[in-house]
Amino acid sequence: EGFLPFEHEPYFNFKDAQVAERQRDAFTQVREKYLGQTFPLIVNGQEVQGEGTFAVRNPADTREIVWSFQKATPAQLDEAVKAAQAAFEEWRFTEPFQRATIFKRAAELLRARRMEFNAVMTLENGKNWFEADGEVAESVDHFEVFAREAMRWATGKPVYPMPDEHVTTVYEPLGVVACISPWNFPSAIPLGMALGALAAGNTVLWKPASETPLSSYLMIELLFEAGLPRGTVQFLTGTDDVLGDPLVDHPGVRMIAFTGSKEIGCRIYERAARVQPGQKWLKRVIAEMGGKDPTVVCADGDLEAAATGIVQAAFGYSGQKCSACSRVIVEESVYDDLLSRVVEKARGLKVGLPEENADLGPVITQGSAERIQTYVQEGQGRVRLLLGGETPDVGERVGGYVAPTILADVPADDALFQEEIFGPVLAFTKARDWQHAIELANDSEYGLTAAFYSRDPRKIDEARKKIHVGNLYVNRKCTGALSGTHAFGGYGMSGTNAKVGGPDYLFWFLQTKTIAQRY
Ligand code: NAP
Repeated sequence: EGFLPFEHEPYFNFKDAQVAERQRDAFTQVREKYLGQTFPLIVNGQEVQGEGTFAVRNPADTREIVWSFQKATPAQLDEAVKAAQAAFEEWRFTEPFQRATIFKRAAELLRARRMEFNAVMTLENGKNWFEADGEVAESVDHFEVFAREAMRWATGKPVYPMPDEHVTTVYEPLGVVACISPWNFPSAIPLGMALGALAAGNTVLWKPASETPLSSYLMIELLFEAGLPRGTVQFLTGTDDVLGDPLVDHPGVRMIAFTGSKEIGCRIYERAARVQPGQKWLKRVIAEMGGKDPTVVCADGDLEAAATGIVQAAFGYSGQKCSACSRVIVEESVYDDLLSRVVEKARGLKVGLPEENADLGPVITQGSAERIQTYVQEGQGRVRLLLGGETPDVGERVGGYVAPTILADVPADDALFQEEIFGPVLAFTKARDWQHAIELANDSEYGLTAAFYSRDPRKIDEARKKIHVGNLYVNRKCTGALSGTHAFGGYGMSGTNAKVGGPDYLFWFLQTKTIAQRY
């Protein structure tokens, strides 16, 4: 379709001293360039001030304010919706090839600045180099994938023919899409939702999480530099009393694309159902929410590979991924063996500064760390604590540092088994046999990702059919979905299963028109 074959963006090799040096330099440059600055809103193509500002703090040492952003007012929200509606009247009629070309150019611009984007992310949400790099590379992939998707949906679909009518089915955009995103993937998640909307011909109200606005702001600037018309994206930061319910309720908003917690996702789903005065449509909502993702290990599985996969998926970015492995369900006969391998590997992980690429940095806030520690302290009285529980020593730094934590013999009705903790806390549970293990994996209101380790094709076949998740990984870890390849989104209370990066994602942002013409 006019573009070269697709390849996923390769990661940087930080083991190469020169590459590591460049990443270190990028931190210095980012501090010189952005530290202490106050960034504007972008409304109707203009950079504007709100009413007051809020500070973004470095989670690795919360005494450090890195930069500040505006608090948008209700009037600015209104103005942004109007501007997005006006821009829609032009953008909706642009050629998909034109949209695709802009995304391709943005991919090139981002490739040249990946280390800068990595460093900004680390200073906002505490990802180490590997994690930040994985996400920025995913953002490059998003540009490449959505360029192709914009083209793929341009032609409509064939219909069953009629002798005397020419009938076509074509797709048209919806209008203004509010994209509301979380802090844990501040680059790839808002970008994926916004590109879905834009590729389909919609315009966007871009509302980042308050912890991580610069990762969004720089991405939007980059899109404008690549040629995106400035009215197509309105960038709004601020407080939930303006950009929470009022944004969701706004009668000018046609669709809400949300990624975040179950609590807020359910709230949005419910509120958006109410038709507001002056609203001329039923709002569409996609809401991608939490997970309690299991890894099932059968007695015949490769225990060493499983242990490696589990440690990466449970403790990468301190377990603050919706896809993180938080439950390990193991057949009885290999339970102790696997448990000791995982504990051994996890014991080797270092908690420290993400800017120095420690294995685990801080969790997002001290409040979050306290919430996680409460789960561990209370859980300790009920089950066996094998690793963690203490507060790691990170010197004078002030931040929510939590040690990798493993709890064993966790029953299925325990909070540690059922609730999303969103930290480096892993629960081990014993299964009678592999079928029981699959049952336990499904004993959850969530259904986002799961991993299954076995060498037996019969068991694998059963797992493929029965494990109730949107993303199932066999003999590999349950994190690390790649755009365009591992369409991402869950079952059950993990959300609407919109499947970002997948072949049907754009359909969520489109409506279908049938045109029957006689001559
Ligand atoms: P969150 O608390 O739900 O916040 C997400 C976004 O919603 C933020 O931008 C937040 O703004 C905004 N918000 C808050 N109140 C709102 C309201 N009343 N109406 C509309 N928007 C509102 O989630 P989080 O703590 O940032 O993210 C962690 C959660 O996201 C976890 O549960 C994780 O599993 C989930 N997640 C899911 C996926 C997936 O693909 N399924 C991916 C990543 C994360 P403020 O920041 O300004 O409060």
